[in-house]
Amino acid sequence: MSTAVSAERQAILQTVRDFAEAEIRPHVMEWDEKQEFPREVFRKLGELGLLGTVFPEEYGGSGLSTGDYAAIVEELASVDGSVALALAAHTSLGSSHIFRFGTEPQRRLYVPRLASGEWLAAWGLTEAEAGSDSGGTRSTAVRGGGGWVLNGSKNFITNASVGRVAVLMAVTDPSRGHGGISSFIVELDNPGIRVGKKENKLGMRASDTCTLVMEDCRVSDASLLGAEGEGFTNSMKILDGGRISIAALAVGIARGAYEAALKYSKQRKQFGRPIGDFQAIRFYLAEMATAIDAARLLTERAAQAKDRGEEHRLFAAQAKYFASEVAVRVTDRALQIHGGYGFIKDFPVEKFYRDVKLCTIGEGTTEIQKLVIARSLLSGRE
Ligand SMILES: Cc1cc2nc3c(=O)[nH]c(=O)nc-3n(C[C@H](O)[C@H](O)[C@H](O)COP(=O)(O)OP(=O)(O)OC[C@H]3O[C@@H](n4cnc5c(N)ncnc54)[C@H](O)[C@@H]3O)c2cc1C
Repeated sequence: MSTAVSAERQAILQTVRDFAEAEIRPHVMEWDEKQEFPREVFRKLGELGLLGTVFPEEYGGSGLSTGDYAAIVEELASVDGSVALALAAHTSLGSSHIFRFGTEPQRRLYVPRLASGEWLAAWGLTEAEAGSDSGGTRSTAVRGGGGWVLNGSKNFITNASVGRVAVLMAVTDPSRGHGGISSFIVELDNPGIRVGKKENKLGMRASDTCTLVMEDCRVSDASLLGAEGEGFTNSMKILDGGRISIAALAVGIARGAYEAALKYSKQRKQFGRPIGDFQAIRFYLAEMATAIDAARLLTERAAQAKDRGEEHRLFAAQAKYFASEVAVRVTDRALQIHGGYGFIKDFPVEKFYRDVKLCTIGEGTTEIQKLVIARSLLSGRE
């Protein structure tokens, strides 16, 4: 595994950093407090080619590696977790599902629009009764009117009210368990689908999280994504990639909090000295920096395995599990280093501390990652 950062990646990251400093950092608390999705930022991210990073240029993408993409997610997350989360869900879930399992006409129809940012994508697996146990999907799709009729609702869907298209999983054959779940591409201006409850969240408040309700939602035959009955298996493959982006999201939030704490340690004086002179604070900083680097290396390992076309379920789950748990600890320490000021919204660690928790939950909780890891270990497969 190579850990050298290419000159190309460095140049891309400099562009992302400049953009985030100018267009995102000044507004993060306002968006957070208003729970406002920054649409204009996404228009500009599209112009910069950052909404289709991993797709080939012939589909309007930027043709970058998964490692480059993860580094971009990290960079954005070090400034604002919400923007990074929305970009990750758009890219790794909705768009990637269409690109990876779509027919050529489906790819040509959707991927260029998604890569340019003209449209944003959502992805709906979770339901009220189907969280960690996504095989418990209750939404249905039955054949009718020359296509399919979908009913049911999807919970906690990122980009649900700002997206223009969603990939949704529904049961097409209840007798076949996991093998009876299929995926559909549903355009969100379809009169049979509506946005339900908007969630009022602890963190990631500028990202859009809503319920999607399908009531006799009619779609054509051409909306079936992948083979009938393969929706569950394909979703698990999509989550293998998605977990790499959530690991990168966690690394980025942890880094943002760590950088703020490092700066504060040099500025804040108590007992006549900068608090960074005290061994307790130094040990915190040393532990934080080491944990972040370790999490980034696991993320890069998973990304490189994916790019080599190798099975990467184990590596992705390990990266997601480790990075998200470490990131929760790092943001906690960063807040501690700030003392009372860390508890105040004038300092950025307060928001990093709230945002980071999502990383141990979304795209499979920590407990589910451990199940995935253990299953791989015991079966002897990677
Ligand atoms: C902000 C946000 C954005 C999201 N975006 C999306 C999205 O875009 N698309 C989408 O489909 N979903 C999305 N989700 C849903 C997310 O993936 C689920 O919340 C997550 O998978 C957990 O499901 P649950 O909330 O139903 O928890 P539950 O499954 O009810 O879990 C509750 C607890 O039980 C534990 N548990 C459950 N089963 C086991 C087991 N077998 N062994 C050990 N412990 C277990 C869990 O780890 C957890 O601690 C989002 C969630 C949030 C909060």
